[in-house]
Amino acid sequence: MKRDFMESTKTPFKRFIFILIDGAPYAVFKELVENDVLPNIKKHVIARGCLKKAVSVFPSTTGPAFTPFFMGLFPGTANIPGIRWLSKADFQNPHRFKRPGVCSYLGLDALDFEADLPVNPTLFNFFSPVSNIYNPLARGCPPDKNLTRWVKPFAYAYAHFSHQWRFVNQIAGRHLCKAVEAGDRFVMCLFPAVDTFSHLSHTQSPQVIETYREIDAAVEKIADNLQKTNALDETLMLITSDHGMTNTHTHIDVVKQMDDAGWRCLHYPRLWRRGATSASMVSGNGMTHLYFKNEGPGWGKRTSFEHLQKMGVIEALLELEGLALVAGQSREGSIIVQNRIGRAKITCQAGTFSYRFEQADPLGYGVCYDTLSSSEVLRQTYDAAYPDAIVQLWQIFQSNRTGDLVLSAASGYDLRARYEIPEHHATHGALLAEHLHIPLAMNVPIAETCIRSVDVFPTVLNLCGRVVAQDPKIDGKIVY
Ligand SMILES: [Zn+2]
Repeated sequence: MKRDFMESTKTPFKRFIFILIDGAPYAVFKELVENDVLPNIKKHVIARGCLKKAVSVFPSTTGPAFTPFFMGLFPGTANIPGIRWLSKADFQNPHRFKRPGVCSYLGLDALDFEADLPVNPTLFNFFSPVSNIYNPLARGCPPDKNLTRWVKPFAYAYAHFSHQWRFVNQIAGRHLCKAVEAGDRFVMCLFPAVDTFSHLSHTQSPQVIETYREIDAAVEKIADNLQKTNALDETLMLITSDHGMTNTHTHIDVVKQMDDAGWRCLHYPRLWRRGATSASMVSGNGMTHLYFKNEGPGWGKRTSFEHLQKMGVIEALLELEGLALVAGQSREGSIIVQNRIGRAKITCQAGTFSYRFEQADPLGYGVCYDTLSSSEVLRQTYDAAYPDAIVQLWQIFQSNRTGDLVLSAASGYDLRARYEIPEHHATHGALLAEHLHIPLAMNVPIAETCIRSVDVFPTVLNLCGRVVAQDPKIDGKIVY
């Protein structure tokens, strides 16, 4: 029988501090904790609770990977399937290359991010007063409590060109301390610099490690403050990440491959290319959505995997070295996943998942699965090279903004060979264990070993004595 917090003897937490370290891989974070590089996080959070390996979502990238934490929704359910996407129903090239046809949250479309989300409540709706620092999913946070709303565009733009991400993080640390001192009931703080420094260098460069140390110092300050005001025991502290990262040695030119094969390919920033019949919308840069123009005036509906195979698209893509997976939707609705090793089919009926391959298993599980629940899928594939891929590939295709095909890169590769300035030396976004495994450090013990990031939303609300309504439905469940 399910139990909830209110049935147990403990008192719900009165306050909640949520620190999100953008781009912190579980393996790196764990090693830093074990080597005493993060003594304050260890003492004030992990020693009082736990450090878990959790599983993020596909695409494992900032923006889409935030909907689980703040709304308990997969990116596919939230209809935010990438940091860039195209809506075939709305897109008409060359007459219409703006919203709602095509979107990049890395540009001005960031202003529409919250409006693109479904109506579900966010964490901010459950507490008052609240504070938000840098996090883009701030719906429900009063504008004057979105503490970095004015400084963020300038700080991010300056840091992007000057690489001075340290000062962006320092601003976050200062706001975090002030918001905790003010006694806000929910304080959300995003530290962006582990991700940005990793892209510029590698996942454990001196700059990256120094950034972790600075976050640890900020945790010491807020823990001191909470101790002095006798608020430590009543405060839930969560430190996690939206995605992991891997170092990159090769950029795969998907656009060139499509151009050369005869499907002239749109991509950011070249959205105005005339006569285009395909589009690549990259996230993170380890994944991309590929869209193909159907016959007729617009771009039409989603093109089936079978049709794309007949066109020769799948064959052309499988030539690309470093491409780990290609996935698409079959005519009858199942998801087909293919790579050079083999092809498999994912189906979902009455909430249970099946995974079948004929000769060789593209995901390397080595077994076919029949009628597994979502939780069983997670448990069976938790430590595999493609954790939770059966559910993750299913959920991303629930969004009508998802590509006809979704591509995921192998470790060491990314899918953006053009216009990534400065050049990225580390990658996320893919359906790989290194990108999906994230640290989950909490000052309360959790016994469950298999946790998704979508479970964080109902779990923290339960720990704070809040009740999540049954409707609208969420993808996460309370873990204990
Ligand atoms: Zn990034």
